[in-house]
Amino acid sequence: MTQLEQHPTLADIELLAEVSQMLTVLDQDRVLERVIELMAKAVGANKVSLILRPEDVEDWRQIFVKNLSGQEEAGLYEETPSIHFAQRVLDKGLAGWVFRQKEGAVVYDTLQDDRWYIFPDSNSKARSALSVPFLYKGEVLAVLTMLYPEPNHFTDYHLRLMTIIANQATVAVRNAQLFNQMLQQQQQLETILQTVPDLLFVLDDQRKILVINDAAAKLISADEMTPGSLVGQALGEFLHVDPILSSIMDVLQNPVQNGQTWSFEARSERQRRDFLVTVSAWEHPAADRGGYMVILRDITAMRDLNRFKDDMLKMASHDLRSPLALIVGYCSLIALDTPEDSTTQEYLVAIQRATERMQGLLDDLLRVEQIRKSPLELHKKVSFRDVVEEAVEHSRQAAEQKKHTLEMQLWLDDAPPVSVNPVLIREAMENLIGNAIKYTPECGRVRVSAFVQDKQVNFTVEDNGIGIPKEHLQRIFETFYRAKQAGTEGIEGRGLGLSLVKTIIERHDGEVWVESEQGSGSRFGFRIPLK
Ligand code: ADP
Repeated sequence: MTQLEQHPTLADIELLAEVSQMLTVLDQDRVLERVIELMAKAVGANKVSLILRPEDVEDWRQIFVKNLSGQEEAGLYEETPSIHFAQRVLDKGLAGWVFRQKEGAVVYDTLQDDRWYIFPDSNSKARSALSVPFLYKGEVLAVLTMLYPEPNHFTDYHLRLMTIIANQATVAVRNAQLFNQMLQQQQQLETILQTVPDLLFVLDDQRKILVINDAAAKLISADEMTPGSLVGQALGEFLHVDPILSSIMDVLQNPVQNGQTWSFEARSERQRRDFLVTVSAWEHPAADRGGYMVILRDITAMRDLNRFKDDMLKMASHDLRSPLALIVGYCSLIALDTPEDSTTQEYLVAIQRATERMQGLLDDLLRVEQIRKSPLELHKKVSFRDVVEEAVEHSRQAAEQKKHTLEMQLWLDDAPPVSVNPVLIREAMENLIGNAIKYTPECGRVRVSAFVQDKQVNFTVEDNGIGIPKEHLQRIFETFYRAKQAGTEGIEGRGLGLSLVKTIIERHDGEVWVESEQGSGSRFGFRIPLK
């Protein structure tokens, strides 16, 4: 019987069965070690080398060499540190040929086969070689080479058998690699979850915990249970631990509806911390699953700061106002007792002016805060046209003083009445018109327009004044922010007007905007939804 016609022996079939079993082993190194051992034994090789390409790495990095001749080394792979060696073999040697051809090869006699390259510094005594690729989707994942010191040791039958085994082994190695990849991704995700400072829960539609991070676990378990041990438990079982959970459970009574989000502030008395709680519903239509994601962001510091700001403002309104009034009062008294031509009178005027400025500043500050805080009466239905016209009329005198033309263009014929606080809206408009007048050199043009678009009323003020440098535009609406540039030195202001406008408009659920070019002029505007 020729070698090609050789039939599988019982040992060959047992070998196949054993390699198949490796499909369930998920440790890549163990799979390789065992498969190589089995393969080498089946063909009676005395030395095996495996060049393995790790995932996603282009150069072939790892090489395992096993010498089977010495008993003491059986079962051991020394990892040859030389990438250089692996690359050399792949460039010139048999493994390289197999890699390029993507098929196995038998070298009956290494001295008579070109594919076997004898490196000058090699002490290899191999005379027979058998090399097979581990192929996956047309890609070579690894090349296994088996050696024997006598020629004509390996046969074509060996090659066929080893090719079949290598195919099986590849599946086993891929399985192990994929599993490791999954494991790595899962670990990555877990690390991210645990490092997120927010408290995070993912719940199913029965409010049972699917995912929970460390910070969240600390909130719901009094006895510091690990996140792992909390998975699968219903959030409702922890209501006794912290009353904050009751307010969350209340929201969770809403049915799951993808994309829906609830947001509210709550305090954990047990942790003595304030949280901004966001609950959003999630749905996975393909898997017919859904539930809730709950995120708690610690806003204690922000709240403390807010309280501090409120206290400061209270102090400003009460404790600073009275001494300022006192200064103004005494200045007037001293003025009465001072001869009119005395220089002291000039000093007194300067003091009075500075004090009035300070009072004005306090007034503006308190006004912004008052609008921000107070419940707004927005239910008054008014004609937007009336509000705009009043604001323009109020500004006319200031415009005339600077010899500006003040134009008004209104497209409000079909506009329905708007639900706004007309006093505040007029104040916002007058602020924008006032700025346009203020920041435009004499004999300029200020154009006010208003129109309805996309269920919103729009108001704009355009001027051909000094404009605003680009770098300032983003911050222009911040409290106390003033865009300093050549030409603004003599213009008085406290940097509070636009912040007031923004506060008023946002309280009406609207938004403010600005466009400007330095030297050409500015356009300020706002839009408010028609309710
Ligand atoms: P104030 O006018 O009291 O300084 P605002 O909050 O009203 O404060 O405005 C902030 C800054 O925005 C101003 O200091 C000015 O630099 C710039 N600004 C506002 N309106 C205009 C405008 N129409 N043209 C040019 N600059 C403007």
